[in-house]
Amino acid sequence: MTTTGLVQGASVVAAVLFILSLAGLSRQETAKRGVNLGMAGMVLALGATIALALVRSERPVGVTAALILLVLVIGATVGTWRARSVEMTQMPELIALLHSFVGLAAVLVGFGSYLTAYSPGAAGEGHATGGGTVHAVEIYLGVLIGAVTFTGSLVAFGKLSGRLRSAPVTLPARNWLNLGVVVACAVLLAWYLGALGTGGGVTGGSAGGGAGAGEGGAVVPLLLMTVLALALGWHLVAAIGGGDMPVVVSMLNSYSGWAAAAAGFMLGNDLLIITGALVGSSGAILSYIMCRAMNRSFVSVILGGFGQAAGPASSDGHDGEHRETTPPAVADQLVAARSVIIAPGYGMAVAKAQYPVADLAAKLAERGVRVRFAIHPVAGRLPGHMNVLLAEAKVPYDIVEGMDEINGDFGETDVVLVIGANDTVNPAAQEDPGSPIAGMPVLEVWKARDVVVFKRSMATGYAGVQNPLFFKENTAMLFGDAKDRVEEILKAL
Ligand code: NDP
Repeated sequence: MTTTGLVQGASVVAAVLFILSLAGLSRQETAKRGVNLGMAGMVLALGATIALALVRSERPVGVTAALILLVLVIGATVGTWRARSVEMTQMPELIALLHSFVGLAAVLVGFGSYLTAYSPGAAGEGHATGGGTVHAVEIYLGVLIGAVTFTGSLVAFGKLSGRLRSAPVTLPARNWLNLGVVVACAVLLAWYLGALGTGGGVTGGSAGGGAGAGEGGAVVPLLLMTVLALALGWHLVAAIGGGDMPVVVSMLNSYSGWAAAAAGFMLGNDLLIITGALVGSSGAILSYIMCRAMNRSFVSVILGGFGQAAGPASSDGHDGEHRETTPPAVADQLVAARSVIIAPGYGMAVAKAQYPVADLAAKLAERGVRVRFAIHPVAGRLPGHMNVLLAEAKVPYDIVEGMDEINGDFGETDVVLVIGANDTVNPAAQEDPGSPIAGMPVLEVWKARDVVVFKRSMATGYAGVQNPLFFKENTAMLFGDAKDRVEEILKAL
């Protein structure tokens, strides 16, 4: 079998491993296997890509191998360092940053492909895919998607890491601005194709040697479109309010997949096309699921439009009188309870409280109390954030329930412990139509007999919205770091 045949075989196996990996990742019990399959697929894919690069190399093979080794060492060093140093609470912002790299890579691959195929004096060797117009459009779309993903992900990184305000930036006539940019990009595409003379002068790989002034001129609309697409990516994400960021993050995940697929088309790399399409479509499905979970319109997410629909986020001001409690008092409440639900949120991740929380659940279960966890789909800062933390602390899967499964049970629950959750348990989503989170389904914890909220202050959550739950008669606030407070309750038990 030829090297190319072997590489193609390896690519198919890698693609199957990626699909099995996604299937494994869809359930907690099989998630570890999914990660291992994904890693195996990636090793195979890297090996196949390197082998192909060596076979196709026009330089001496040793030089190409040394160059690949150099970038591999740099990438692996940075990747290992980040993977070891990143805190669980920084994962979402790291993922957003990684999406921006994919976007940037697609832009660079696009310009690289353009210069290889169409710049004056180019030999046309970049025409892996053959078609003149098709290849030119691949480059244009690849750069467009990549540029939107790049700046959109950078803004998401800024918002998730607290470097940028999470409140929406609402420019006047912003929907018209977005539409104007899309129309301008379409006009620039016509200019770009006209300057390349595709459909006429530039066909297939023959563009190269004959490229002239006209083809060089196509770089102007390509550059102008890139600037507009960078601005569009920034604007689409900047316009989204804090509470709606989860959907944006998964949308950018999807965009990064399409950007990778576009890079695959430009490079004529089938595996990159398949991998990109898998990431793009699974990200789109996740975005759709999250849109449904948050009662948002999928189309308005793509248009970056739903952050502004509601009024500005309410202030940090207090809305009434709140009641405080102490760890020994909560311990007494728990001992007397028959059923307890724990609703964790981002604060549990910040406090790293999952271990004592898991101990508390086990201790109460030993005493015959029915304990369950209620997981909101957007609790924390990335999809599945709470599930990962609870799995890490070895909480049994069968007592971890999703919002839809458990929301009807709060009315028959004695005590709810809200541990570092805020937006996801905010009744304003149902009670206040003007709230920025209006319409978002929430955990209806206030229906329980008693609610204890663990947090450090009366500050708002990520969406910047005050929470009327804190002022309800059956709610008591337990201030302080969630880990410390839970450990004190454990001692009192
Ligand atoms: P929130 O972000 O609404 O609230 C977290 C709360 O935790 C804060 O009010 C904070 O209050 C408290 N907290 C922080 N540190 C500690 C600590 N050490 N000990 C105790 N409490 C602490 O959390 P939710 O999980 O309820 O909601 C998630 C929000 O993030 C939603 O708005 C969601 O849309 C958004 N989001 C979610 C993403 C996802 O994919 N899941 C992605 C991006 C955004 P205090 O400061 O007073 O302690």
